[in-house]
Amino acid sequence: MPATLYAATTNPGKLRDFSVAAAEGGFTVAPLPDLDAISAPAENELTFAANARVKAQYYSRFTPGLVIADDSGLEVDALGGEPGVRSARFAEDAGYEPRNPDPFLSVDTRNNLYLLSRLRGITLRTARYRCALAAARDGVVLLTAEGIVDGEILNAPRGIGGFGYDPLFLLPHLRLTMAEISLDQKHVISHRGRAFRALLPGLKELIS
Ligand code: IMP
Repeated sequence: MPATLYAATTNPGKLRDFSVAAAEGGFTVAPLPDLDAISAPAENELTFAANARVKAQYYSRFTPGLVIADDSGLEVDALGGEPGVRSARFAEDAGYEPRNPDPFLSVDTRNNLYLLSRLRGITLRTARYRCALAAARDGVVLLTAEGIVDGEILNAPRGIGGFGYDPLFLLPHLRLTMAEISLDQKHVISHRGRAFRALLPGLKELIS
């Protein structure tokens, strides 16, 4: 029977990214039981890796077995790596308001509009998604790994799939944005899948 890893997320997209990569290594990924009933730890660290460690360590005290936790986001070279660990709160942190404020604008749309405003007139567009993953048991972090996907930030959104910064994130080799590729393609190339594959050799050793 495949060994089960408990992921500290209820996000179906993340779970699927991990599950696809896990199946390749003979693991099953399941959401951590009763995750909604556990108050979340603060994610105030300066790196994705440190946030992932904090979460894995914290959540593994609630569940017997191996727990994995991730932190991920976008790094834009022309912005010195911003938004980085603040990816989810990029526009909010800056107090950004679009020119025609709309109370119904989603957080993702606000973040994308703010990103475009920060990059106006800048030709250097290289960026990457980064995911840090940590595995822990009984409050002790046992393994960490990272995965990245390189891309470029467009001047306007394209595509309706994905979430977050996906409509602006061009995959140069495919000439498509992350919001234009199929879910199956995304699960294969995602930074989360890559981080998980990097964790696999260590996971196999842990359960052998
Ligand atoms: P999280 O903390 O891993 O949930 O991700 C933080 C933020 O990074 C999200 O709210 C998104 O803005 C961004 N992000 C992370 N992964 C992705 C992705 O695969 N596509 C688009 N945006 C992402």
